Amino acid sequence: MKTTVLKFGGTSLADSKQFKKVSDIVKSDPARRFVVASAPGKRFDSDIKVTDLLYSCYEKSRSGLDFEPVLSEIKDRFNEIIGELGIDFDMEPEIDLIRRNLKNYPSKSYAASRGEYLNSKLLAAYLGYEFVDPYYCIHFFADGNLDTESTYEDLFEKLKPLANAVIAGFYGSGPDGNIITFSRGGSDITGSLVAKAVGADLYENWTDVSGLLAADPRIIEDPRVVEYISYRELRTLSYMGATVLHADALLPVNQAGIPVNIRNTNHPEDRGTMIVSDLPKERELHTITGVAGRKGLSVIQVEKMMVSDGAGFTAVILDIFKSYGVPFEQCLTGIDTVTVIIRSDFFKAHKYELLNAIEEQLHPDTLLVRENLAMIAVVGEADADYQGSTVCILGAVSAAGIDLNTINQGAGSLNLIIGVEEKDYEKAIEAIYNSII
Ligand code: ASP
Repeated sequence: MKTTVLKFGGTSLADSKQFKKVSDIVKSDPARRFVVASAPGKRFDSDIKVTDLLYSCYEKSRSGLDFEPVLSEIKDRFNEIIGELGIDFDMEPEIDLIRRNLKNYPSKSYAASRGEYLNSKLLAAYLGYEFVDPYYCIHFFADGNLDTESTYEDLFEKLKPLANAVIAGFYGSGPDGNIITFSRGGSDITGSLVAKAVGADLYENWTDVSGLLAADPRIIEDPRVVEYISYRELRTLSYMGATVLHADALLPVNQAGIPVNIRNTNHPEDRGTMIVSDLPKERELHTITGVAGRKGLSVIQVEKMMVSDGAGFTAVILDIFKSYGVPFEQCLTGIDTVTVIIRSDFFKAHKYELLNAIEEQLHPDTLLVRENLAMIAVVGEADADYQGSTVCILGAVSAAGIDLNTINQGAGSLNLIIGVEEKDYEKAIEAIYNSII
């Protein structure tokens, strides 16, 4: 039998109406066996996520302030779901325990984890499935890193005999028995770990959008939804700021080759976006999968005549950046020039030390600095004529009257990154989208 792991985000489980939609989705396909749940999210724009209410309880407790009003707001939210769905569940002892723990041993991760813990218990009771507490099967080392080996082992052991289960997202435990959470949005990671542990055929990530958009909707009106994207393409677009999944959620499913389907709980009829190892050959795909970018970058170009004839020039430059703890985004080399692109906040914090060190150690002929730049990435692995597309993209940008500062194109499939001035960023995205996507 096929196995699908589903993860529902906070808005998908924000109230009883959403719980009903989730139940319909889960029950409509017997392959949908293991469900990972987030804490209740926002029901409307000005609403507060339960996770944020829990963080606020913790902050208040730590400062010796009364957190009872916030805790009772949390209790009311869960009780509303229980009442409206007629779930047989008593919140009182759960809330009493959280109150006691928060008073006696305030822990930020413990507090935050209770949203997923309670919501998953409720969902399990509503669906009639077993509740699985990740405290016992997702393990972290003392330094906060995930202990993947024991996590996969224990998740597998726990889930193997079960036909169905609901697993709480977002947290696990450390070696001394304390609760540890992933970073915000981390239930995506839990879903990915569960999918790999049980060898799922598919990981469905249910959210409130119908998939990844081919461009930022704040710039392009009504951009199309991406039907298929490879893990590599998504990694590039996410790095540039396109968000659809927690960045750390990609690795486990990628390693196991499990496709991820981004779906919309409010529109289950939409097919969403499929994230796959390799784009399907038999389908007609768009030439370009998507475009994304970000502002806030600076470029440093070091030029020294005849330097390409010697070894180690680039290494010295990168060592200088490393010695100030400044990561670089891209490093482009030409004949006798090295161009390093870094985030402007890092550059501002270390500007004079970096430039002085380059002057002193390398004595460059010229040292050029450009600030207020933006990078734009265009990906399209399915594009057989990627060289033609590169020409078309660069042509569209220059026809829009935009100066190109940097161009970075690796070998192989289309993965083009261009640098433009921040003021031209939106115009460049429009030009690229309208010309080719
Ligand atoms: N509830 C957590 C958050 O708000 C984790 C998640 O939803 O994935 O970040």
